[in-house]
Amino acid sequence: MAEPFPLAPSLWATTAAPAPETPPLVESGRADVVIVGGGFCGLSTALHLAERGIRPVVLEAHEIGFGGSGRNGGQVIPGLKHDPADLIARFGRERGERLARFAGGTTDTVFDLIARHGMDVPHRREGWIQGAHTEAGLDDLARRARQWADLGAPARVLDKDETDRLLGTDRYLGGWLDGRGGAIQPLSYARGLARAALKAGAAIHGRSPVTALDRTGSGWTVTTAQGTRLATERVVLCTNGYTGGLWPGLAQTVIAANSFQVATVPLSDNLRRSILPEGHVSSDTRKLLLYFRLDHTGRLLMGGRGPFREPRSPQDWAHLERIVGKLFPQLDGIAFDHRWCGRVAITRDYLPHLHEPAPGLLIDIGCQGRGVGLQSAMGRAIATYIATSDADSLPLPLTQLRPLPLHPLHRLYVSAIIAWYRLSDGGIR
Ligand SMILES: Cc1cc2nc3c(=O)[nH]c(=O)nc-3n(C[C@H](O)[C@H](O)[C@H](O)COP(=O)(O)OP(=O)(O)OC[C@H]3O[C@@H](n4cnc5c(N)ncnc54)[C@H](O)[C@@H]3O)c2cc1C
Repeated sequence: MAEPFPLAPSLWATTAAPAPETPPLVESGRADVVIVGGGFCGLSTALHLAERGIRPVVLEAHEIGFGGSGRNGGQVIPGLKHDPADLIARFGRERGERLARFAGGTTDTVFDLIARHGMDVPHRREGWIQGAHTEAGLDDLARRARQWADLGAPARVLDKDETDRLLGTDRYLGGWLDGRGGAIQPLSYARGLARAALKAGAAIHGRSPVTALDRTGSGWTVTTAQGTRLATERVVLCTNGYTGGLWPGLAQTVIAANSFQVATVPLSDNLRRSILPEGHVSSDTRKLLLYFRLDHTGRLLMGGRGPFREPRSPQDWAHLERIVGKLFPQLDGIAFDHRWCGRVAITRDYLPHLHEPAPGLLIDIGCQGRGVGLQSAMGRAIATYIATSDADSLPLPLTQLRPLPLHPLHRLYVSAIIAWYRLSDGGIR
């Protein structure tokens, strides 16, 4: 896999609260639990374990939030890619409804953690709007809103006029509003989770790539690139779209595709008032979805597809800059001062997966680009599972690793799928 695009050009790296000290692991030793990956999942697992009196050590290859957690759109969106009725059809009424309620509650987890730990994280909670770009999309939204409302969520359909007004563009046919959603500065949140975990007693080491996991007796030996070793009974892998070859076959269970983002320079007050005037965040019904929001510095962020390979020049973001001008003509010609991207892990069933391929080794992977809330809540569930050994405390059943067929060819077929989706999504009118 090519070297990942660096974190530094992202808007979040420029505007985040300072990172806590997380020096590399230099001494070998023991840990109750070793967590590989310092994103929302690994950090939330560490925090919730430490709060239970279990001493975890987090090993992160680069820096806290280096992966999707420090690069995402900062949209805190409830639910999974599947609607509640799909989850019930797939998992049965009891488990499916439990999973839907878990997924619906993931946004509460984020805002509760920020409040409970007094994190230095710019955040707002006005709701998430999903705009429909086709008539069929409108029907899907109405069904989605009804299903969530039936589960007690503050969800409602928006007609075209209200959608136009709340989004600040007339390019959608209508939408729905889920009041549970909101916005955060994601890298500040990752750093806030790390501070809270450290305070609760976790150890966190950056620049400590894990290079080997070896079964030793009833436990594990975890080795870093520096040659330091930790002995432990439990390992949790939270490497998601940045998964390498650490566990055989794992990277082959997902497609790790890049999602691209641009941010404008800060907008004038007048322009700010014309776009998402009530502070909502938004994404749409396209298969290659567009997602946009304002941030706390008054910039407009636009995210969406890009080339499957790592970017080579600003041209790789040019399509998103054109889209900004089409959705918001008042921004035509505006300057963009940040361009970045990050990897999302997509599974064949568009569901996150939990695996336990060997005793004491738990793997979380595949959040399909919607993981701010999900991975925060997943970390808490993983900590409960480790503390209680009760598999029912996990929101999803543990499944077997199933590598995707023809995975070595995935670049080829993902590029073909992207081209096909671009055609079927249509342009922006
Ligand atoms: C561009 C983009 C936009 C997105 N927008 C949104 C959004 O608006 N809303 C939303 O809900 N979700 C969004 N997502 C998805 C969300 O960011 C992710 O689902 C979430 O951050 C995943 O968290 P994680 O902890 O599972 O993994 P990550 O944050 O990806 O962390 C994995 C970590 O593992 C580390 N690692 C890998 N291998 C090793 C190793 N061998 N040793 C040590 N460390 C290792 C990596 O360096 C990385 O830091 C977006 C994602 C991207 C990329």
